[in-house]
Amino acid sequence: MTKKERIFNIKTLFLEHYKDAQTELCYTNLYELLIAVMLSAQCTDKRVNMVTPTLFKIYPSTKELSKADITNVAEIIKSVSFFNSKAHNLVAMAKKVESEFNGEIPTTQKDLMSLNGVGQKSANVVLGEFLGMNYMAVDTHVFRVSHRLGLSNSKKAIDTEKDLTKIFKDNLNILHQGFVLFGRYQCKALKPTCNNCFVAAYCVSKANFKPQ
Ligand code: SF4
Repeated sequence: MTKKERIFNIKTLFLEHYKDAQTELCYTNLYELLIAVMLSAQCTDKRVNMVTPTLFKIYPSTKELSKADITNVAEIIKSVSFFNSKAHNLVAMAKKVESEFNGEIPTTQKDLMSLNGVGQKSANVVLGEFLGMNYMAVDTHVFRVSHRLGLSNSKKAIDTEKDLTKIFKDNLNILHQGFVLFGRYQCKALKPTCNNCFVAAYCVSKANFKPQ
């Protein structure tokens, strides 16, 4: 089998298995999704989903959040990792959206990345999930799965993102979500469940790869 055929087969299998995959973060609009993604950095979706209902109720848009007392926001999200810096970033993000984007969350990678606390990974997740745009994002799960399947040898997440973007070319948002769910529930860091793995034929290592 050629390298090209191998990549095509893996891509086809993931698109079949995860064609309707969606984020497990709870949200009802772009503002809520952006906040949930910002909070999810180095934190589980389950934990984020526990704090966002209260946060969204008290601060339903950037208008209210931009005027928020940071200590109040921090108190609401205190069970989330790095809650102090995340609270700062949330309020700063809302202020900037109000002052520079007329209160509308921007929908380009460049503009999203100009907001406090929003890096390329978060911007890509938001654009892929909400607008179905063709962006890959590499978190710990996507990194591990990519390396176990021999799709990337890069040591950094950002370089693995480039590798996956180059080899898959399209449907990147669906593949991202598929890799996340596959890594979270089957190809787990410790004790992956390999006996019924749909891509076992393409697995090159069961090591626990982590981005540097
Ligand atoms: S065989 Fe196991 S380690 Fe390899 S991709 Fe499948 S679940 Fe992951």
